[in-house]
Amino acid sequence: MRRQSLPTPCYIIDEAKLRSNLELLRQVSQAAGCHILLAQKAFSCFKLYPMIAQYLAGTTASGLYEAMLGAQEFGGETHVFAPAYTDSEFVRLCGICDHISFNSFSQLEHHRTVWERSNVSVGIRVNPECSTQEGHAIYDPCAPGSRLGVTRQHFRPEQLGGVEGLHFHTLCEQNSDALVRTYAAFEKQFGEFLPQMKWLNLGGGHHITREDYDIDTLVMLVRRIREVYGVEVYLEPGEAIALNAGWLDTTVMDIVENGMQILILDASAACHMPDVLEMPYRPPLENAGEWGEKPYDYRLASRTCLAGDVIGDYSFDRPLRIGDRLTFGDMAIYSMVKNNTFNGMPLPAIAVQHENGDCEIIKEFGYEDFKARLS
Ligand SMILES: *Cc1c(COP(=O)(O)O)cnc(C)c1O
Repeated sequence: MRRQSLPTPCYIIDEAKLRSNLELLRQVSQAAGCHILLAQKAFSCFKLYPMIAQYLAGTTASGLYEAMLGAQEFGGETHVFAPAYTDSEFVRLCGICDHISFNSFSQLEHHRTVWERSNVSVGIRVNPECSTQEGHAIYDPCAPGSRLGVTRQHFRPEQLGGVEGLHFHTLCEQNSDALVRTYAAFEKQFGEFLPQMKWLNLGGGHHITREDYDIDTLVMLVRRIREVYGVEVYLEPGEAIALNAGWLDTTVMDIVENGMQILILDASAACHMPDVLEMPYRPPLENAGEWGEKPYDYRLASRTCLAGDVIGDYSFDRPLRIGDRLTFGDMAIYSMVKNNTFNGMPLPAIAVQHENGDCEIIKEFGYEDFKARLS
């Protein structure tokens, strides 16, 4: 099927870009001698899992459902981390995961009798209290008052019996210099416990497939950790796996005026790209510039009732018309996994653009998908 024939709104996964990201990630894992896992919370389009599984060691999950999905559709290693597990979830997780990380010693002890009788390798997430990002406080697990990871002050070495791994996750869209700084803070506070560990998980947030990412620094750091402490090292990026590997195609449904030209699109920031409002950021749009950069300026907005459902202000080389198609970039990650049917908005279809350019719809949604979640 041709790209132009896909319905809108539609998420389109770029198989060629996904593969080139995966090839780079496999090179990194081979050069560094570490395991790279898919953090499913960023990208869970399991139709692509067989392809991703050719390159990565396994998946990590934020809870039972993602762990089940990884175990069923991906195979390989199945890891999970969540701030808390219910008793019934934990029993099921022990049946499908090989690595489980706890967020506190109280959770570790609460579930101890279950994991001690399982084959699961257990770890504890620590908080190195080293903030390396400004601007995105909601994505900073080292921010004051963070619930994520045990600080050194509350670390209980006497309860480490049976614990085989340490885990930290503090980065978001960052380069390897931030990891080096974070690792130094981690090692200073928690390095004394590494000799008794089998593995160290460096979390996600490594923007490895971004053009300016310094891979050599990452590889050198991982190799040094392995040499000094003899531990297996894990990276669990989400974004980096499908970075720039998808689009959201949308159609202009109307153009209204109020001090400017405002496009009404069939795609919504609130429903289909929530990070635009949550993070917030202005998504890349093909063939468009900053406001004022090109001759024709438009505000891009949605057909929901939310006044703030505005995607951003852009400019174009020529006037736009009702019926024109627009393409947002970098829409494979944190998009499908976060969308919703607020206002009864239809969910975008999901398509794959294969490496030969041919497009295939792999999922369509309808009224039943809206209704089924509401009672
Ligand atoms: C979010 C998260 C990841 C993946 O983060 P990205 O920014 O998508 O790379 C990995 N591990 C944990 C514990 C996370 O919370």
